[in-house]
Amino acid sequence: MSAPLFRRMAILGLGLIGSSVAQAARRGGLVEEIAGFAPSPRTRARAQELALCDEVCTTASAAAADADLVMLCAPVGAFGGLAQEIAGVLKPGATVTDVGSVKMAVIRDVGPHLPDGVHFVPGHPIAGTEQSGPDAGFADLFDGRWCILTPIGGADDDAGHMADRAEVEALARFWRGCGSNVEVMDPHHHDLVLAITSHLPHLIAYNIVGTAADLETVTQSDVIKYSAGGFRDFTRIAASDPTMWRDVFLNNRDAVLEMLGRFTEDLSSLQRAIRWGDGEALHALFSRTRKIRRGIIDAGQDAAVPDFGRHATPKSD
Ligand code: NAP
Repeated sequence: MSAPLFRRMAILGLGLIGSSVAQAARRGGLVEEIAGFAPSPRTRARAQELALCDEVCTTASAAAADADLVMLCAPVGAFGGLAQEIAGVLKPGATVTDVGSVKMAVIRDVGPHLPDGVHFVPGHPIAGTEQSGPDAGFADLFDGRWCILTPIGGADDDAGHMADRAEVEALARFWRGCGSNVEVMDPHHHDLVLAITSHLPHLIAYNIVGTAADLETVTQSDVIKYSAGGFRDFTRIAASDPTMWRDVFLNNRDAVLEMLGRFTEDLSSLQRAIRWGDGEALHALFSRTRKIRRGIIDAGQDAAVPDFGRHATPKSD
């Protein structure tokens, strides 16, 4: 364990990700003191019981005051309001970051509220599960996973918050201390990549589970009883937090719609191949996709166990 990177860290939102960040930061000795905030008394009480933070605050401002690192860990739709609320108490020189699953909308919503002299370095840990709440967090959630930082490149953002290299590097060290590999990416590129690798798969899962549930000829019990096939994996993804995912789709609309357009075209050609009995086309695609699965396992991003890694290291997003 090396010297702490930040004296006081404020974590705003104490669900799966906020709780995991608190535990990972503790494990790595990355901060001296953690202040946490969640709006509901129930979550705050649970955070106290789990001893996630040194101080559990009843307002976001109380947690952010005097913090050197402020991390927004609430659903993306709440970030603008949170930034507005804490703006007045932020310490000059503090770094504000986030864990939101979309980046352009976060830059749009948060940046304008932050005062001069505060550094804004948006981020996104590519790690998660379908669970939510403070009890779902665990210290090694980020081990071996990627964390993408999307500093506002080169020029200042609209509100003039250019993050210095030093702040980006300090945050990168923080995430490495949490066990992650760190990549710096353009925020627009991030949103496109995540639209296809995470957001669209979640949309498909929500849709297929919804369709199955609506089918009058398939009873609920049959859906559950015969779910050992691919459907079961979709139900796991479709159990993800509704608020978080509502906010993801509302805030990455353009990229998701673009990817959805491509997906729909490809689905139509699969439909055509099935209709015309084009087994060659089907086999060619399925062989290509199998190789991609192999590549993910080889890259250590999932396990090749019969339960598809579900019980080994449950990761999504
Ligand atoms: P979660 O388990 O549902 O937790 C959300 C937390 O945010 C709760 O503590 C909730 O408090 C709090 N919250 C809600 N509204 C708030 C507000 N206005 N101000 C402050 N806190 C508020 O969600 P999560 O999975 O940790 O997701 C949090 C963020 O991480 C999201 O932005 C998401 O995009 C991102 N992310 C998620 C994953 C994933 O797989 N889940 C992965 C990477 C990134 P209460 O309990 O008091 O309501």
